[in-house]
Amino acid sequence: MDMTNEEMEVFSRLYEEISSNTSVHIILQTYFESVSHYEKLVGIPVKGIGLDFVYGLEDNIEAIEQYGFPKDKILGVGIIDGRNIWRSNLRESHQLISRLSKHIPLQNQLLQPSSSLLHVPVSLAQETHLDPIVKDALAFGDEKLEELRLLRDVANDPSQTSLLTHHQETFEKLNQSNWRDKKETPSLPTKRTQTFSERYRVQNQKWDLPLLPTTTIGSFPQTKEVRRARFSWRKGEISNDTYETNIKSMIEKWIRIQEKLDIDVLVHGEFERNDMVEFFGEKLNGFAFSNNGWVQSYGSRCVKPPIIFGNVSLDHPMTLKETLYAQSLTDRPVKGMLTGPVTILNWSFVRNDIPHQEVAYQIAEALLKEVQSLEHAGITMIQVDEPALREGLPLKKEKHETYLHWAVEAFRMSTSDVAVTTQIHTHMCYSDFNQIIEAIKALDADVISIETSRSHAEIISAFESTVYDKGIGLGVYDIHSPRVPAVEEMTSVIERALSVLPAELFWVNPDCGLKTRGEHETVAALEIMVKAAKTVRNQLTKELIR
Ligand code: GLN
Ligand code: ZN
Repeated sequence: MDMTNEEMEVFSRLYEEISSNTSVHIILQTYFESVSHYEKLVGIPVKGIGLDFVYGLEDNIEAIEQYGFPKDKILGVGIIDGRNIWRSNLRESHQLISRLSKHIPLQNQLLQPSSSLLHVPVSLAQETHLDPIVKDALAFGDEKLEELRLLRDVANDPSQTSLLTHHQETFEKLNQSNWRDKKETPSLPTKRTQTFSERYRVQNQKWDLPLLPTTTIGSFPQTKEVRRARFSWRKGEISNDTYETNIKSMIEKWIRIQEKLDIDVLVHGEFERNDMVEFFGEKLNGFAFSNNGWVQSYGSRCVKPPIIFGNVSLDHPMTLKETLYAQSLTDRPVKGMLTGPVTILNWSFVRNDIPHQEVAYQIAEALLKEVQSLEHAGITMIQVDEPALREGLPLKKEKHETYLHWAVEAFRMSTSDVAVTTQIHTHMCYSDFNQIIEAIKALDADVISIETSRSHAEIISAFESTVYDKGIGLGVYDIHSPRVPAVEEMTSVIERALSVLPAELFWVNPDCGLKTRGEHETVAALEIMVKAAKTVRNQLTKELIR
């Protein structure tokens, strides 16, 4: 990350200390970006320094060319991308090694991945379902180590350079395929035709919701029953019809539960979805899925990210059937529920032949199609989730603006070209939002729901110093625990929020989706949530009358 002079001072002292009382050779390893304060860093008395020549290529190499590299140190050359799954362009890597060799003798260069290989799946060997052209362009952990070996061999014996050309040809097939035909950046509106206050006024007239409307974030418990049905269907043990009937009965059950709880804006429950990115990836063109490409995401949790290998587009609606079925069962509004372009991008392995921003726009174009299908079919409250918006924020501050700009554009591209009466919701969680609050505003969503209670309502203080003037629901309870909170806990979050946000714009909802919870605790907690909303609503109405 960026480091101040003071921080660098402390950092140097720390490593001087670590190195001073040991005969062990220490390699100071950096990754994910270029280093700050290179000239100081190379003066630290360690045996070696590892730099990232994938994500920090330009700045790191310029620093070496400007300041040189100490003769007595080893350079860890992070040259194979440790975070992506594509084969490397080894001819370029080889040139880089030659360029570095002007400053650092070959025997002092330690070839390595740009970071730990924790971020990529283990091996391609077991992948039997991938298209051969796609598979040939991939390199998981084992294959990356092969690439390193090849680079080493060629660096030591230039007569073998043709091996690099051969390596290159295998992945060129994908670049030349129709999947990667050059595509214009979609030119779509990124601004709604009316201002938020004009929109909200007509939207309020349309739905006539009470003050502090209640809603949920989308998913309901993915019980054993739900998961077993999907598993059997995927294995072909139950027919499409049986599976569909099963999903429908789940939807109906939860529509009735929500009506009985007196929730104002309903959801269908997302029972047909395994994962909020995989579900969409399976229906969009340009995505592939590995059999075993698991990577660690958090602690002991693993995910199997989709692979975006080609141009993204959409042929058929993805969410219409379930949403329309849910809406047919009730007079209350049912929200359409989509995963946003930035989250789909950030939770996938993304092709690296075009900028990520282009891929985000392609996904946005496909999602807009879905938004418009929903809208034409009469679903006019549509939530586009962006929990991973913050996750893509670059490490260095100077790069924040560019990222946030295109990320916001992509979201707006997928949500702007709709009628004034169509209400766009979004949702965010898992992050420190204070840093990106301006970008959150710029999304221009009619309503946003944000995780709040898990972080002990810290975010509320952000609204003391910034004016948020669109619909907003700060989560009134943490969904990561089966505990059912007391009504006072929820009313206190609502009251605190209302000290900084206007009541006419405030919504009441849980922190996040409820798919990891059990049925019993979910119903119990939602019952309390509705009670809390009604309690505060009644107080406010009384004050208004007075
Ligand atoms: N709509 C999704 C759900 O309710 C949102 C999940 C998320 O924010 N991670 O599960
Ligand atoms: Zn969430």
